[in-house]
Amino acid sequence: MKKRIVIALGGNALGSNLTEQMEAVKNTSKAIADLLEEGHEVVVSHGNGPQVGMINLAMSEYAKNNPGQPEMPLSVCVAMSQAYIGYDLQNALREELLSRGIDKPVATLVTQVVVDPADEAFKNPTKPIGAFMTKEEADALIAKGEQVKEDAGRGYRRVVASPRPKEIVEIETVKELLDAGQVVIAGGGGGIPVIREGKGLKGVGAVIDKDFASCVLAQNIDADAFIVLTAVEKAAINWGKENEEWLGEITTEQARQYMGEGHFAPGSMLPKVEAATLFAESKEGRTALITLLEKAKDGIAGKTGTAIRK
Ligand code: ADP
Ligand code: MG
Repeated sequence: MKKRIVIALGGNALGSNLTEQMEAVKNTSKAIADLLEEGHEVVVSHGNGPQVGMINLAMSEYAKNNPGQPEMPLSVCVAMSQAYIGYDLQNALREELLSRGIDKPVATLVTQVVVDPADEAFKNPTKPIGAFMTKEEADALIAKGEQVKEDAGRGYRRVVASPRPKEIVEIETVKELLDAGQVVIAGGGGGIPVIREGKGLKGVGAVIDKDFASCVLAQNIDADAFIVLTAVEKAAINWGKENEEWLGEITTEQARQYMGEGHFAPGSMLPKVEAATLFAESKEGRTALITLLEKAKDGIAGKTGTAIRK
């Protein structure tokens, strides 16, 4: 049965530097091509932690070494990371598809995601980004209105908010491309965070969680399945303990119960389970799946992974 699927790729799908990424995307493309070969419609989204960190650091150095040059806003760095990752991924996927005799256009979409300026997250920024700084550098940044925190004795780092995604600005374009039979890479790094200002959109210095942004993307294109591909085959309760139990098929109620009991680590597995649950709850017949990159095909066939259904 042909499905409309959103795949959210984790860090292991892309590696953490230029060389690793070029290698990793080949393997990742195989997993995506497996689904396309079965006739599914696929939208790919992905994380960007190491990549946006690298771009942000390079741009800070540039500003430092070229007096008069402004700091590159984080929103612009996210846009750059979408293009850089999309470039590697779309080419690897195109090549993998051609090698299987599938002639399908693949394109990356620079994607903006609207956040609410009143989001509670802006009151208490928690996400460290960029390079470690000295006290003096930190004070200079604070004077400019940025938030800076001391990070576990290792120095000072800028912290930004991680607000919830509300709306994908380019959603109609994603749908048009999908309807035309194309493969779309969208919402990279959780999207470029923007707020609405009249008719305009203004980039904000924040980072949107890619699992939540992909969940909104999946809902808005009316996907049948939302697959979070990561470094583990299944989510577990009592993870890492003696009574560890890997989860197969669970209901949204069970997922909510396990989240409440604190079984999933915040910042890694929790956002995945929460995003998966939100998707499954959003409409009858929607399935969310968390599994290993290499197991995407088996997962969609119901053979493995943690599947969450209403
Ligand atoms: P990604 O880059 O794919 O977003 P993360 O590292 O953010 O990956 O999250 C996946 C990781 O979450 C797993 O590799 C595992 O180490 C960790 N994890 C935390 N809690 C759990 C759990 N309860 N069950 C399984 N994995 C968990
Ligand atoms: Mg993660």
